[in-house]
Amino acid sequence: MKDIKSLARRGFKNTESYMPAPPGDGIKLDANESPWNLPENIRRKLIRWIEDAENLNRYPDTDNTVLRGSIARHWGVSPSNVTCGVGSDQLIDMICRVFLEPGDCIATFKPTFGMYAAAAALNHARAVSVPAGYDMDAARELLRAAADNDAKIMFLCSPNNPTGRAMSDDATAHVLENAECVVVLDEAYADFKGTSFVSRISKYPNSIVIRTFSKAYGLAGIRVGCAIASEEAIELINIAKPPFNIPTISQLLAEWAMDEAGEFASRAKSLAGARDRLMKALGSIDWLDAEPSDANFVLLTSRFDIASVLASGGIRARDFGIQDGIRRVRLTVGTDEENKKVGDLLCAVRLK
Ligand code: PMP
Repeated sequence: MKDIKSLARRGFKNTESYMPAPPGDGIKLDANESPWNLPENIRRKLIRWIEDAENLNRYPDTDNTVLRGSIARHWGVSPSNVTCGVGSDQLIDMICRVFLEPGDCIATFKPTFGMYAAAAALNHARAVSVPAGYDMDAARELLRAAADNDAKIMFLCSPNNPTGRAMSDDATAHVLENAECVVVLDEAYADFKGTSFVSRISKYPNSIVIRTFSKAYGLAGIRVGCAIASEEAIELINIAKPPFNIPTISQLLAEWAMDEAGEFASRAKSLAGARDRLMKALGSIDWLDAEPSDANFVLLTSRFDIASVLASGGIRARDFGIQDGIRRVRLTVGTDEENKKVGDLLCAVRLK
């Protein structure tokens, strides 16, 4: 019998799959999730809905008609400018499958969200990257790297995961205006900064904004994301959309969440305030540095093992390991109580 590995698509042996934070116990600050459960009225709606639980014998609406309508209304676009995915992860995958051929290239910053390169690799495409930056120079460098390598897609994550910084609006607009390829602007964390390029998307027919319900909306468990773009771009992305991709309950919860967009915006604002307070506490610690952040997480760097110190206090952060003698750990902003625990723990440690 043939070894199953020999039957896999060529090149897959060297393809790394994206590894999310591993499961475990403790205070979970490793996946940039919201620390808060759903607002009470949405929980009540869900309980009432479950009592009847109608239509679960039927497939979900494959077109996500009501949800796309709510998203479109919220952003002032037409439903034909919107498509939904099982998290924005699935949209990244769909976009790569539609636009990339073997041997193609994507352009990104480094470090950035690992799914872009992972999804490209699944399509036998490679990633070129330039050091993450946030100003006009960085925008020009990304454009140059994309042009030099004839990139098909550019992924721009703003605020960027894992650094937390957002690119300036001028620099972002410069990329969208001048790119000769598809530009995916990933706004997974944009609610924490309170700005978005969705309202300008009609000016950039080759650009796609992707957003998620997993972060500021606190709905990582329902796995819903959306892409907003020109009708032509959405039609193309939909070629790779599996039918019935979003479960009925996830569609409903995302619709109800859209009705409470104001509540989630104010939650995002208060998390941004908590982040700034946490940053202040971290600023007094001499054995680590915290990057300025526009998101709901901060990137910590140190010569010392920050993740182990955090783990000793039952706090789980995302450890990116050691590179050039520097350790990098991404820490999600939690509740005030959790953040105080983090601050107290790290401040109490004396390292030299
Ligand atoms: N984009 C970025 C920048 C992310 O950090 C994440 C999740 N960590 C995603 C997209 C995917 O999120 P989801 O699939 O939950 O929408």
